[in-house]
Parts: sequence; structure tokens; C-alpha cells
Amino acid sequence: AQVVQAEFIKSSVRTEDCPSDGLPEFALVGRSNVGKSSLLNSLVRRKKLALTSKKPGKTQCINHFKVNDSWYLVDLPGYGYASAPQELRTDWNKFTKDYFLNRSTLVSVFLLIDASIPAKKIDLEYASWLGQNQVPMTFIFTKCDKRKKKRNGGKRPEENVNEFQELIRGFFETAPPWIMTSGVTNQGRDEMLLHMAQLRNY
Ligand code: GDP
Repeated sequence: AQVVQAEFIKSSVRTEDCPSDGLPEFALVGRSNVGKSSLLNSLVRRKKLALTSKKPGKTQCINHFKVNDSWYLVDLPGYGYASAPQELRTDWNKFTKDYFLNRSTLVSVFLLIDASIPAKKIDLEYASWLGQNQVPMTFIFTKCDKRKKKRNGGKRPEENVNEFQELIRGFFETAPPWIMTSGVTNQGRDEMLLHMAQLRNY
């Protein structure tokens, strides 16, 4: 499964404004700085696929990228910007929650988790919410190439991932699938593409 071509289609401010051609889609969401742009670019093998969701407060949009004319990768606003005012953060939550609950062509939410650091409370909260609402999802662990550092708690990515899995166990009836990735080494790229192909043909 190789991505041949990806093109930006549109930014939508509400779920109702999203493309209506019925093609299946996968939504990428995660904490700001989790490595979403790097991962997206590694997936489509582009140096820089313009990401409109990068700037806090400016573009709280649902951004659709069409891949091979047959499915969408959707870039959602990040969460956990330290600099965002409280009311904006709440807005992002409402915004993305409506999309998660009402977008009928959404196949799976890819929740990005930084594997180079210990679990963050806000990531656990998002995972818990998705689990409670039975939104189909996949955990995508990012930055799995990073070596352990004292200031990161001295843990290897594999250890952080294991600890995260333990912490989220109670949130789900069945544990969601998960993939370890790196936008630097392209680890997990083929696995993600295969995973998406399998989910689309389901
Ligand atoms: P975004 O804010 O989620 O879009 O994150 P970016 O893709 O812009 O990455 C945030 C920072 O993490 C940048 O400094 C990247 O160079 C770094 N980064 C992103 N992905 C990886 C990765 O897979 N491995 C490593 N070592 N660093 C990464």
C-alpha cells in the first residue's frame, strides 16, 4: 500500500461542512507538538504537506486531504496548547467532539501519543472520552526512534508505551489497535497504510 498522491481538499468549520462524497476517512488528533505534521508527511512522502491546523486559535478547522482519489486523511486541531486561553480550549473540545460523534464516514480516530515521554494526563482524558463514547480508534505512538533521556524520566519508548497501555486498559471494552511510529525513520508507515487499507475494506 503506497500513497501515490495526496491533495488538500478543504477546511471545514463544522461537521456539516465536511466533504459529502461518502469516502472513508481517518482523523489524526493529538497534543500540540506530538509529531502529527511529521507523521502526516511521512505517510504521504512529502516534505511539507501544508498543515493549516498548526496555528493555535487561527485555524480551528477540520482539514481534509484526499489520498489516491479514494479516501481521506483528516487533520484535526491539536489540543493542549499551553498558550491557548481556557475558553478556546473548551471550544476545540466541543468542535472535535461533534465531529467524532456525528461524522458518519469516519472509520477510525488516530489518537497520537508521544512515546518518548511518560503518559500525560490530557492524553489519558482524551483516550477515556473516546472509549466512553465508543468512538472507533487506533493509538498511534509517535517519536519511537527517540532514545531515553534523563529528563524524560529515563524510559525507553517501549516502556512508555507499555505504561500507557496499562493506564488506559479500563477505558475500553476491547483494547484498541496500536502502532509504533516515527516520522524520522518512517517506522510504522507501512503498518499504518496496511491498517487503513484493512479498515476500509472491512
Ligand atoms: P505537531 O505539532 O504535532 O505537528 O508536531 P511536529 O511534527 O511539528 O513535531 C514537533 C517536534 O517533534 C519537532 O521538533 C519535530 O522535529 C519533532 N518530531 C516529530 N516527529 C518526530 C519523530 O518521529 N522522532 C523524533 N525524534 N522527533 C520528532
